[in-house]
Amino acid sequence: DTTVRRISSGQVITKVEDVVKELVENSIDAESTSIEVKLVGDGLTSITVKDNGVGIQECDRPAMAMRYHTSKLYKFEDLNIVETYGFRGEALNSICAVTESTQIITKTENDPVATLYTLDRSGKILDEKSMGSSPGTTVIAVKLFSNIPVRRQVAQKSTSTGKNVQNILITYALAHPHIRFSLKQTYENNSKIKFKEGDWIQPAMKNTMDAIIKLFGSELANDVQFCVWSSDAELIGTSENGNVDDDNNSNNLNNTQQFIITLEAVLPNPDADPYIIFKNGKTFIYVNNRPVTTNRGETKSLVSMVKSVYNEIARQNGWKGNPKTPFMLINIKLPTWAYDINVEPSKNVALFHYGERLVETVS
Ligand code: ADP
Ligand code: MG
Repeated sequence: DTTVRRISSGQVITKVEDVVKELVENSIDAESTSIEVKLVGDGLTSITVKDNGVGIQECDRPAMAMRYHTSKLYKFEDLNIVETYGFRGEALNSICAVTESTQIITKTENDPVATLYTLDRSGKILDEKSMGSSPGTTVIAVKLFSNIPVRRQVAQKSTSTGKNVQNILITYALAHPHIRFSLKQTYENNSKIKFKEGDWIQPAMKNTMDAIIKLFGSELANDVQFCVWSSDAELIGTSENGNVDDDNNSNNLNNTQQFIITLEAVLPNPDADPYIIFKNGKTFIYVNNRPVTTNRGETKSLVSMVKSVYNEIARQNGWKGNPKTPFMLINIKLPTWAYDINVEPSKNVALFHYGERLVETVS
């Protein structure tokens, strides 16, 4: 209970994209190799995310969508070692709260059959029945915001939901190239189901560069390269439970942990064509595979650092236009105790201990 209160602050689902992000993260946490997203009526009729992961254990099911139920974290101190996307146990509960109903079909490798659960708005199981299905989990969020008219109206006005969802899938596909992602969109017209243009598949790929070729074409891929760089190992004082010892409590000083920062990056070649690098000027920044925003703190300075260095090179290569952001993908790998991702419920803001060391490393 105290763990619950200390992590809590409540998750807000304001759009279809938020639901997809949470469900896709759950599917990746479940070690899936295939994740299929289906939007009916731009996601407002239903959002379905189907995976082939490990499924939900029988013992976890009664409470799977209850608030703060997570199978990924046992005590508060574990926050220092979580490697899964989820640990707050809020997403399924929040999704239930803002849908007409939510259905979960799940089957582990030990289950003879799959079970379909229908959940009410509080996350309690209303109904369950057996059905045939392959191993994995499917979550269906039916009639999003049917009980929140204002949010539903705002969502109905969005014309870019499909595109945004595709961009979310691209972001995760780049961090997990071995997973196959697909997006299917349908809508109903005169009670007939029609397929919408723009169905999209990213097949399973061997590595990030192959994923980039498939997603953005070989033109860009020829002008960037994958590189890995690690800092020297440093010993950092930590307290007994693995927390970084910010106060330098003298009684804990002999408790140290290795601190290594590894960068896995795809950056422009020095002789890249500036036009191509700027045309595809997307930034993908991750901390241990988790997409993070670039409008705050160290991740922000990191992007502007790469931007200014590359613009200098571009000018030498004949670029006369204004400075622009080049294509960049940077996955910062560091020990989980060396940063805090629990700043925002969406977990896309990272606070770094020793942030200056990170900036130095990138530099
Ligand atoms: P969290 O991801 O923070 O644990 P969620 O509300 O997203 O919280 O999910 C609650 C729990 O339901 C998870 O801890 C996990 O046990 C289970 N779960 C949800 N989605 C899946 C899935 N696709 N495959 C396997 N288990 C899942
Ligand atoms: Mg989750």
